[in-house]
Amino acid sequence: MIALYIFLVLTAFIALILAKKILQLKKGKKLADAQVAGMKISKLASPGTVKALSILPLIDYYTDNADLKTEPGVSYLVSADATNILLDVGFNKKKEHPSPLLQNMKTLGISESDLDMIFISHPHLDHLGGMTEQKEKTFSFSKGPVSLPNIPVYSPVKISASRWNPGPETKVITDPAVLKEGIVSIGVIPRFLFLMGHTLENALAINVEGKGIVLVIGCGHQTIERIIERTRALFDEPIYAIIGGLHYPVHGGRIMIGPINIQRLVGSDRPPWVSIRESDVQSAIAAIKSVSPKIVALSPHDSSDWCIDQFKQAFGDTYVDVKVGQKIVI
Ligand SMILES: [Zn+2]
Ligand SMILES: [Zn+2]
Repeated sequence: MIALYIFLVLTAFIALILAKKILQLKKGKKLADAQVAGMKISKLASPGTVKALSILPLIDYYTDNADLKTEPGVSYLVSADATNILLDVGFNKKKEHPSPLLQNMKTLGISESDLDMIFISHPHLDHLGGMTEQKEKTFSFSKGPVSLPNIPVYSPVKISASRWNPGPETKVITDPAVLKEGIVSIGVIPRFLFLMGHTLENALAINVEGKGIVLVIGCGHQTIERIIERTRALFDEPIYAIIGGLHYPVHGGRIMIGPINIQRLVGSDRPPWVSIRESDVQSAIAAIKSVSPKIVALSPHDSSDWCIDQFKQAFGDTYVDVKVGQKIVI
C-alpha cells in the first residue's frame, strides 16, 4: 500500500515537472521565433576575403591517430591566412589537467601563443571546457594553470575570464560582425531548447577568395536551414563549405545515461517524445543540397553514426570526415 502511494506521488511529481517544462518550451519557442523574425539583417558592406584557409579539429569525437584524445566536444583551429582562430575549447569531461585539448595541442605542435583570437560558438559544456564552466558562465582550456595571451575572446553571451586559465575578458558579439578581413561572425540565431532553455549560438563565416563562404559551426542549434538563410542574407558569394556540428543524435548519441540519449533530449525544441527525428536529418540534407557546397563535413560530436552515413550517401565525394588531427584544407 505504501509502495503504491509513493509510486502515485512520484508519478504526479514527474507529470507536474514535465507539464511545467512543456509550457516553458512553448513560450520560449514562440519568443525565439519572434526574435529571429524581428532581426534586420542586411548585406555586409565590405567583408573582405582571405586567400588560404584550413580547419584543424583539435577536439571532436573521432580520430585516426592513437596519440590524440577524443571526446564529445568541439575545438577547431581555423587558420585564415595568418590569423589563427580557436573555435571553442572542448569538453574536458573528466576535468583533467592537462585537458584533452591541451594534450592534443602539444601533440600537434600548437601553442596558446599561436592563437590570435578565441571564438566561443555558444555557452554549452562541450564547447566551454566543462560542466562547471557552463554553470559558472566561464570557460577553461584545462583544469590547471594555462596563461592565455591577451587576445580577443568573442562570445554570444557574457562569460567571465577563465578562473583556471586567466587572460582576457570575453567580448559579447550578437550582431553579424567582420572580425578581421574575410573573417565574419554571422551573428546569433536564438533557439529555445528543451532543458537547455534559451540558447544563443554564433558561427564563423570565412570568405575565401575565388571560392566563397566557408561556414564553421559549433553545435548547430540554430538549425542549418537558418544558418544558410543568414549567410545568404549577409553575403553575395556562394556557400563553398559547411563544416562542424549540426546536432542530429538520431538513432544514437555520444552522451548516454543508460538508455537515455542526453543530446537528443536536451538539444531539441520539441518535447522528448517527439525530439530530433530522421525527417530533420533529411530536411537538413535538402537544405544543404539547395546551396550545392563543394565540401560538407559533419562533426560527430553531436550527430550519430546513422546520421553521418546519411550525409555520406547524400553528398558522396563532397563529404569529408571531421577527425581530430586531420586538417581540412580549403
Ligand atoms: Zn556541442
Ligand atoms: Zn550545444
